[in-house]
Amino acid sequence: MGEEGGWRVYILRLGHRPDRDKRVTTHVFLAARAFGAHGAFYSGQKDEKAERSVKKTVESWGGQFKVEFVENWIDKIRGWRRNGGEVIHLTMYGIPLNEAIQKIRESKKDKLIIVGGTKVPRTVYELADWNVSVTSQPHSEVSALSVFLHELYMGREFEKVFENAKIRVVPQARGKKIVKN
Ligand code: SAM
Repeated sequence: MGEEGGWRVYILRLGHRPDRDKRVTTHVFLAARAFGAHGAFYSGQKDEKAERSVKKTVESWGGQFKVEFVENWIDKIRGWRRNGGEVIHLTMYGIPLNEAIQKIRESKKDKLIIVGGTKVPRTVYELADWNVSVTSQPHSEVSALSVFLHELYMGREFEKVFENAKIRVVPQARGKKIVKN
């Protein structure tokens, strides 16, 4: 997705702590994948379990989404910009999504979307090309990311087909139906 705009989308999740953030970080990755992102990076502490859980989802449900741990997030952000990409930091303190999204969508640059954990260092606000808020109210990295991707793709992510899926849902008005491909 995004190929028609010429860009690709990756997530950078900052400050992961396996003991406290396991579920939220995994949900950031799963939401990113479901809503059309191509892959994710995370910093903090390496977490094989969270990585395995996303890998298993991809094996069953398809697509190419990959997760990679980064030791040095500042280098990742600087490298991303050096390689011609742009960096969008999601924060309740940023400029409203509605004011930024069109320019972000129209730029041809690959996009690195940063979401934080507890306290986001000031440097992130300075290194980012965009600090964008999804409302100016506190909520969650999962909701902020999902709404941002939905606006970025303008709903086209709902039509995304996940290649090489072993299983898929057949939507039902009631009940659950999964078939093997
Ligand atoms: N007060 C914390 C801080 O220092 O930014 C917010 C922590 S919040 C639980 C974790 C992450 O969720 C934030 O770093 C941000 O990426 C995202 N987030 C939460 N509310 C948001 C909002 N209204 N707009 C955009 N992103 C938001």
